[in-house]
This record gives sequence, C-alpha cells and structure tokens, in this order.
Amino acid sequence: MINLTDINFRYPKGDFHLSIPDLSVTAGEKVGVIGPSGSGKTTLLNLVAGILTPGRGSITVDDLEVSSQNDSTRRDFRITSIGFIFQDFGLLDYLDVKDNILHPYRITRALKLNSAIRNRADLLAEQMGITDKLRRHPADLSHGERQRVAICRALLPDPKLILADEATGNLDPKNKVHILELLFESVDHHNATLLAVTHDQELLGRFDRVVDFQNWLTD
Ligand code: ADP
Ligand code: MG
Repeated sequence: MINLTDINFRYPKGDFHLSIPDLSVTAGEKVGVIGPSGSGKTTLLNLVAGILTPGRGSITVDDLEVSSQNDSTRRDFRITSIGFIFQDFGLLDYLDVKDNILHPYRITRALKLNSAIRNRADLLAEQMGITDKLRRHPADLSHGERQRVAICRALLPDPKLILADEATGNLDPKNKVHILELLFESVDHHNATLLAVTHDQELLGRFDRVVDFQNWLTD
C-alpha cells in the first residue's frame, strides 16, 4: 500500500533533514509510528499524503507514484483515497461541525455528496459521541471534541489509507481506547491501511507493527 524508497527530504528553510532508505506498509496493516518530538513524524505523513514532495526518492501509495504527480493530481488523490487526521486538526472555524465533516465533498468533484453520505456523517458523529455538537463551531468545542470531528471527517469517504497524527493525543484514557478501536474497526471493515503517529506506549501493542524514527535520525 505504501512504499518509500531512498527518500531524502529537506524543508526550504532550516536544517532539518530526513532520510528514509526504505519503508513499506502492506495493505491492511496497522502501523504505529513513534519517535522523539521533532524527529520528522509529521513530515513523513505529509510526504505520504503528497502534501510535501521529497527532494530525492520515490513514494508510492496504492500503486500511484505520489511523488511524481502534479499538485492537482496529488490533491484529488489525497481527498478521495486518504483520510488524514492532522495533528492540529485543520478544522474550519467558519463552518459548523457537520459542515466540517462534509467539507471534503464540497471541494472536489471526485467525491459526490448525497443523502447516504449525510447519513454516514451522522452515524460517524454518533459513534464518536458528538451528535449534540453538530451545529456548533470548532471554536466552541473542547480539544478532544475537535479531535473527534477531525476523525469523522477523515473517515467519511471510506479511505483506503488512514494517516493519523497523534489522533488520540488529547483524549482521556477511556476515550483513547474507544477512538482507537473505532479507527481500527473502520480500517478492518474497509480493508484499509493505518499509519498512526502516537505517543501512547500503552496503545502500541494494538498495532501490527511499530516503526521507530530513532532508526532514521541523522545529525
Ligand atoms: P515531529 O512530528 O516528529 O514532532 P516534524 O515532522 O513536525 O516532527 O518536524 C521535524 C523537524 O522539521 C522539526 O525540527 C521542525 O522544526 C522542522 N519543520 C517542520 N516544519 C517545517 C517547515 N515548514 N519549515 C522548516 N522546518 C520545519
Ligand atoms: Mg508531529
């Protein structure tokens, strides 16, 4: 599902440098990503999602060589095939919760908004325990509630690949396990793949495999 080969990445500014000789994730695998703060975990997810492109090397997701596509192809691919739960959520304050969840369907023709999708959005919101928050705006939600909105939005199109950047980071322990189970259920149900950054040592055992950034650190 994901193949990274001989990756070299630098931001235009600063001296951060990421080298990944080889990383493969099989379809259906649930992989946890760990590593110190600032080691490049978020950068890796952005590379896989085609938000960033590597200076060298190739990144293939679901048979598409993401790293060599143009901006609009990468964007459409990302919206239709990847559910990205951002570390900072990326919610839009001028939209209410329901419209935030539906937003991917309004920004690309590749996704079609219909009543089945609206119902699915309501169902996801119910599973995440935010049904009573659907008409609120993100600014009036707690951190954990915003996180759950971001998860609903990411899961709505049934993506083949889910990228989660500390998706359970700000939840209480009970909710943490519950949300992770929902993510895992969705992954299993749709035969999707999960790449999830986490700091929760106690959740690591639930992944099929753990990738440690410590292995790629250079100075
Ligand atoms: P992590 O998610 O593991 O905490 P990141 O991938 O966010 O780490 O960041 C890795 C490094 O890249 C950090 O040193 C960070 O300061 C730097 N960095 C992140 N974004 C940018 C940017 N847009 N420009 C320059 N440096 C960046
Ligand atoms: Mg990060």
